[in-house]
Amino acid sequence: MQATATPTAVPPTVTRAAQLTAVPPTIAATAIPAPTATQAPPPTPIQAPTATLPPPATPTPTPAPATPTATLRPTPTPAPTAAAATNPLVAAFARLSTSVTVRQEGGFWVITSNSTPNHPSPYFPRTDSRYQAYNGTNLQYAQNPNQIVATTLICRIPVEPGRAASTTATQGGPIGIAINGVPFFNQYAAMNAPLTMEINSFDQYGGHPQQFGQYHYHVEPTALTAQFGKGALLGYLLDGFPVYGPEENGRTLRSSDLDANHGHTHATAEYPNGIYHYHFTADNPYLNGTGFYGTPGTTTR
Ligand SMILES: [Zn+2]
Ligand SMILES: [Zn+2]
Repeated sequence: MQATATPTAVPPTVTRAAQLTAVPPTIAATAIPAPTATQAPPPTPIQAPTATLPPPATPTPTPAPATPTATLRPTPTPAPTAAAATNPLVAAFARLSTSVTVRQEGGFWVITSNSTPNHPSPYFPRTDSRYQAYNGTNLQYAQNPNQIVATTLICRIPVEPGRAASTTATQGGPIGIAINGVPFFNQYAAMNAPLTMEINSFDQYGGHPQQFGQYHYHVEPTALTAQFGKGALLGYLLDGFPVYGPEENGRTLRSSDLDANHGHTHATAEYPNGIYHYHFTADNPYLNGTGFYGTPGTTTR
């Protein structure tokens, strides 16, 4: 700012350059212990970046204090219990090599993903190696104008789900999460409009991005059922109850086979003692009917 006022004797550029190069070594040599000690107490910035903040690359000053702090607190993640290691939910999300993480926080699983599918899509940019032109069977296919944008999704769902006294209606946005980290949306388009028109923008794997680029499934995620089977465990809704594909014991289910919430209770491969679960069906409402059977946890929207 004061550069213009400086006389001719010392060119301002030299002064600035000298300061810029001189300062970092000085700090590195002598000043590090002090900032580290004072900045160590607020550990909050360290946890936040894992969830949302990778893109905004922070300037150089922060890494120095971060390193010593990290060594002091090497394990912010809770140690997985034996129960968690064998839990069907944990095992389900471990079936794919995705960036989805699952950790337990008290009575909740905290599942974090970037909403990005592990399969190709015409909704990736054409320059992206994951781009694949539409090759599905819908002759009415009409791609929407959005492209896939990695979007942080954090679902907190009960570890021990139970039937709620009354049904909670689902809302727009994520109502659950598939084992590949893609969110499930309900049977409505924006403003609770029927999916009638929107269906034509589903890609060959049953998903599409919303206006901000978050990819999601309203209907059967066919990449997952192709890989794991039409009756496979595909994910969970926010109330902690599992979601299965449209087939059961070799039979294709319809919505009329299920209750008003779009599920029923019996033993499954993952839950041999029986559990309430949802099924995808080819007919409306596809995944969830009147709302959650259990008490839903929370999610980012
Ligand atoms: Zn949608
Ligand atoms: Zn079933």
